[in-house]
Amino acid sequence: MNGFTLLIITILAIYFYNNRYPLSNRYKIYCGIFILLFSIFIYFMNYQKPFVYKMANNIKDVNSKSLHSVIPDFNINYSIPSSIKLKLADKQGLKCSNCRNSMLVDEIDNYKISYVTPLQYGGKNDPSNLKLLCPTCFSYRNF
Ligand SMILES: [Zn+2]
Repeated sequence: MNGFTLLIITILAIYFYNNRYPLSNRYKIYCGIFILLFSIFIYFMNYQKPFVYKMANNIKDVNSKSLHSVIPDFNINYSIPSSIKLKLADKQGLKCSNCRNSMLVDEIDNYKISYVTPLQYGGKNDPSNLKLLCPTCFSYRNF
């Protein structure tokens, strides 16, 4: 909401300045472009936050390729090396991190990797931020 206030103040400031000292058309166009870009920025930061964080995380982690292939996009079923899943399962004591049911190591491929703190809430794109969920918990996850 602070962004909206700032935008309105900026527009009013330009309006009153223009009333007192009329701007040339060139500067009016510059102000218009600034206001347009600022509105787009506010829109993305207020209504498209997951997208912005995803973009930012993609930019940040573009060099660490091995980590990048580990991170699942939740809608796409990447083949994640099961050794990473085994490490996570070991870390969690062979229990689903949500329902605490025991895991079957033979069926580790059915278990899904998820974020402890999702990226859109400021979670890190880092193995320490990963957890392993059983297929049931993964399909009902709303966190
Ligand atoms: Zn579970």
